[in-house]
Amino acid sequence: MRASLVSIPCDLCGGDRTEALFQDEGFQYVRCTSCGLVYLNPRPTEEMLKAWYQSHGAASGEPFLQKRQEGYYTRYLENEEGYLLEGKRFLRQITDAGLMQGRVLDVGCAAGFYLSIFKKAGWESYGLELSDVFIRYACDTLHLNVQKGSLGEVTFQENFFGAVLMIDTLSHFTSPQGTLREAFRILKKGGFLLLRTGNKGSLSGKKSGERWGENWGAPEHLYHFSEKTLKALLEKTGFSIEHFQSYANVANLISPATLHLPDAVYRFHKVLRRPYRFLRNVLTVTLGRTLRHTPLSGTITVLATKPGRE
Ligand SMILES: [Zn+2]
Repeated sequence: MRASLVSIPCDLCGGDRTEALFQDEGFQYVRCTSCGLVYLNPRPTEEMLKAWYQSHGAASGEPFLQKRQEGYYTRYLENEEGYLLEGKRFLRQITDAGLMQGRVLDVGCAAGFYLSIFKKAGWESYGLELSDVFIRYACDTLHLNVQKGSLGEVTFQENFFGAVLMIDTLSHFTSPQGTLREAFRILKKGGFLLLRTGNKGSLSGKKSGERWGENWGAPEHLYHFSEKTLKALLEKTGFSIEHFQSYANVANLISPATLHLPDAVYRFHKVLRRPYRFLRNVLTVTLGRTLRHTPLSGTITVLATKPGRE
């Protein structure tokens, strides 16, 4: 075992009895035998995880962190159009729930594409991010207010935000329960948490096992949630669930990893990348909703509120 790994109890129920599930990149995922939460155990120390986010492995000096991320930023920025479309959908979900404007925080905002949609619609926008490359892009190119740090390290006033976004970020936090408690604290009463995460309970989550879609692996994904464990976490931290939807994550289903195509095919052949992205975007829109109640559903989106009124 690597000397720098630490063993942890279950973040949801505090238990320490687990069963081994599968390995990824030499890391072990386990399931809590009391509550069912799936997590990486043992896992790298917080310092090592931070080094990973700052450099995506490149400059950390840790061999296991120097992995498959070449071209990560370029690929992310190239998909701006897709992220802006998603951002519009997130904005609509919150305005449909009755909140038209206010302060929004995007936790783990990456390049800031979602935030830019909210800002354009008149929201006072705040972002948190760990990667220097993304922070520079968000601040200099998109002129957003993005600070370096994770939720809890960077603190905000109590009852400050009308909405908090956590899109595909909860599984990266060392304590999802602590993170959700902090989100609850800084939200106004009646404010919204919009959260999206992968669904480990789904067929696509179970089927692809060790290579569960693109960028879903260790060490950055410390947790894999199911509907049951995510609901339990939200309820335990005080949230009231408004909408709970599982979507078919078509992007995962047709990703090179799920289809067992060599990554090189996707990464280095521009000819294939454009039609792949087009197909993925079309299928996400057309099939994502249709398949959401089937075992193919791979993503959970939750709209939750902090109960009460301002
Ligand atoms: Zn547990």
